[in-house]
Amino acid sequence: MANYKEIRCASALNNVSGRFPYNWDLNIYRGCEHGCKYCFAMYSHKYLDSEQYFDDIFIKTNVAEQLEKKLMSPSWKGEIINIGGVTDSYQPIEAQYKLMPDILRLMIKYKNPCIISTKSDLILRDYDLIAELSSLTYVNVAATITCMDEDLRQKIEPNGASSLNRFAMLKEFSKTQASVGLHLMPIIPFLTDTRKNIDSLLSQASDSGVKYFIPEILNLRGRTRQTFFEFIRVEYPALCKPFQDLYSSGGVDKAYKYEIYSLVNELKKKYGLSTDFNAPIREKLNKPMFEQLSLFT
Ligand code: SF4
Repeated sequence: MANYKEIRCASALNNVSGRFPYNWDLNIYRGCEHGCKYCFAMYSHKYLDSEQYFDDIFIKTNVAEQLEKKLMSPSWKGEIINIGGVTDSYQPIEAQYKLMPDILRLMIKYKNPCIISTKSDLILRDYDLIAELSSLTYVNVAATITCMDEDLRQKIEPNGASSLNRFAMLKEFSKTQASVGLHLMPIIPFLTDTRKNIDSLLSQASDSGVKYFIPEILNLRGRTRQTFFEFIRVEYPALCKPFQDLYSSGGVDKAYKYEIYSLVNELKKKYGLSTDFNAPIREKLNKPMFEQLSLFT
């Protein structure tokens, strides 16, 4: 059981210009109970004086109030807001606190475009609000899904929804006017990088009506490296040395990267899928908001 702490935030949005293909991030929680062993966001807890990213969950009880102050400000230009850059907005505690419906009602009120990515099918609770927002402006609903083997999935993402449930969720949102995406990230060497797994994920994506997918190979830096290697040491000790060799620096070996992206490219063509995150934005907002994502070439 996680430790929950209610906090009040001084502002709702963080400016993340220059690092991502959007400028604003909204995190209604800090910390995340989903417990993914490869979580890239663990670093963010150092700003909250906690080492327990998966167990110390901070709840921003006044986040909707602060968001409305921003959205109603004359200086706000209605830019896309990424909801959940360093947490999952639909992690288990959201079933109790119900912060997201208020956030979505504000997005509807101000017709503000947004991106929501989650590993939980709790997002279906807010289906009608997201469908309404998607009829007014750009909304992206994305699920990060890494593997179709449920035993492995439970080890690497212990508190997320099953991959099949995440695809079922995407399929439901594909019936709205939202852009629906698969974030195939991270692809984990030796565990989820097989042809069989990637083929199966892209086949499911195709059946679920996704408009794009983004693949990215595991990065191991800082806290993430430490947590991931501890997981490998306990669960897959024979893989410790191969991982150390492949990740002698923070990033993955270049030859390996080339091999995996070649495979992904081949399967992308097989299923006729797009990796253009921008296309739905151009379609809906009629303007190129971002440069092409450089995650995948
Ligand atoms: S769902 Fe995202 S934020 Fe939450 S633990 Fe997993 S990777 Fe981290």
